[in-house]
Amino acid sequence: MAASSRVAIVGGGIVAASIAYHLARRGVSVLVFESAEVGRATDAGAGIICPWTTAVDDARYRLSAAGAAYYPRLLAQLAEDGRPDPSYARVGTVYVSTSDELLGGLAGRLRSRIPDAPEIGAVEVLAAGQPAGRFPPLDAALGGVWIGGGARVDGRSIRDSLMRAATSHGASLISGTAAVDQAAGRVRGVLAGSDRFTADTVVVAAGAWTGKICECLGSSLPIGPQRGQIVHVELPGADTGHWPVVLAGGIEGTATLAGFDGDHPYLLGFPGGRVVFGATTEDVGFEHAVTVRGLAGLLTGAIALAPGLGQARLLETRVGFRPVTADGSPLLGRLDDGLVVAAGNGPEGLTAGPWMGKLAADLAVGERPDADITAFDPRRATTSAAGG
Ligand SMILES: Cc1cc2nc3c(=O)[nH]c(=O)nc-3n(C[C@H](O)[C@H](O)[C@H](O)COP(=O)(O)OP(=O)(O)OC[C@H]3O[C@@H](n4cnc5c(N)ncnc54)[C@H](O)[C@@H]3O)c2cc1C
Repeated sequence: MAASSRVAIVGGGIVAASIAYHLARRGVSVLVFESAEVGRATDAGAGIICPWTTAVDDARYRLSAAGAAYYPRLLAQLAEDGRPDPSYARVGTVYVSTSDELLGGLAGRLRSRIPDAPEIGAVEVLAAGQPAGRFPPLDAALGGVWIGGGARVDGRSIRDSLMRAATSHGASLISGTAAVDQAAGRVRGVLAGSDRFTADTVVVAAGAWTGKICECLGSSLPIGPQRGQIVHVELPGADTGHWPVVLAGGIEGTATLAGFDGDHPYLLGFPGGRVVFGATTEDVGFEHAVTVRGLAGLLTGAIALAPGLGQARLLETRVGFRPVTADGSPLLGRLDDGLVVAAGNGPEGLTAGPWMGKLAADLAVGERPDADITAFDPRRATTSAAGG
């Protein structure tokens, strides 16, 4: 594709911002269309970057692991561009549990992954009480596994840094709902209101809304929203900026909490006494609401895991729609001539999103991406609007 080509991006979350940044940085003409829907996942995301604990070793895991590995390079580039992002910090992760068997298995799995993913850092089994030494509100009876490479990022902050860096490299940001403009089976650009913008390639990176946008092409993409409610509290005076991420598993009592992913609760700190606890996983469509059931589950879970949060002040509950696919695997690739799709990172989009954005940028200019993305082909599970 010629350097003078134009790429239109539909979406305004972390994936779209990363695509815009990578394209604009290499001199491609970029238009970004963003509709500011309520429930943008990037704004609600907790910000945990620690993909290595999963027992699964599939293409999705490898995308997230590559995403975690990519962060330091990306942050160095943003700093070079005068747009450093201060929200990322490699604070480490403590995985806590009451099950020694679970913790032993996890430590073994993490160590076996280090040759392929040295970013995991030091792995250490912590005796009961030691996790609370690192994250003081935690239940002192809990043991854990320390993962030195665990990190956290503020989704809003990194999205804004990427978008600002993209515009400083010449990308144009246009507010409003956009649709794919196509005629006679050919993608021609983007329609926004009554305006028509031509482009050589359109990239749809609109999170949970991606399926709706692509419907006009006559195919139905298997992607939709999964609601997540997440609570922010404040512990005045606490040095929370350095606290590690806390992941939890196999803790009796938390698994039965209503409307809340009690199997995998998590906690993390941000500077200024802020502590975040999440999250619900709910299949309720695009219903943007903080519910009594969701909040009750979250708060009960938070106190069970970290009794020291009892005196914390409630700040806010955020609600976001994770972009989830039917088979759990992201969508990344060409859907049509002139149309690339990049979405579906589910619960790991703040981890994988910037890297997915880099790969989508390569695709948008006709280059072979720097990773095997065969498993993410968006055509793998499309059904035609006619019902095929
Ligand atoms: C509660 C919660 C906790 C999470 N925690 C983590 C975590 O700890 N770690 C992690 O890695 N991930 C986490 N995630 C997942 C992560 O936040 C998402 O996967 C990621 O932010 C998705 O980014 P995205 O850019 O694909 O979509 P979004 O951020 O949802 O952005 C989609 C954008 O598309 C725009 N749009 C929609 N339709 C149109 C249109 N027609 N025209 C123009 N623009 C349009 C919307 O306005 C929106 O700006 C969490 C998510 C939630 C909800």
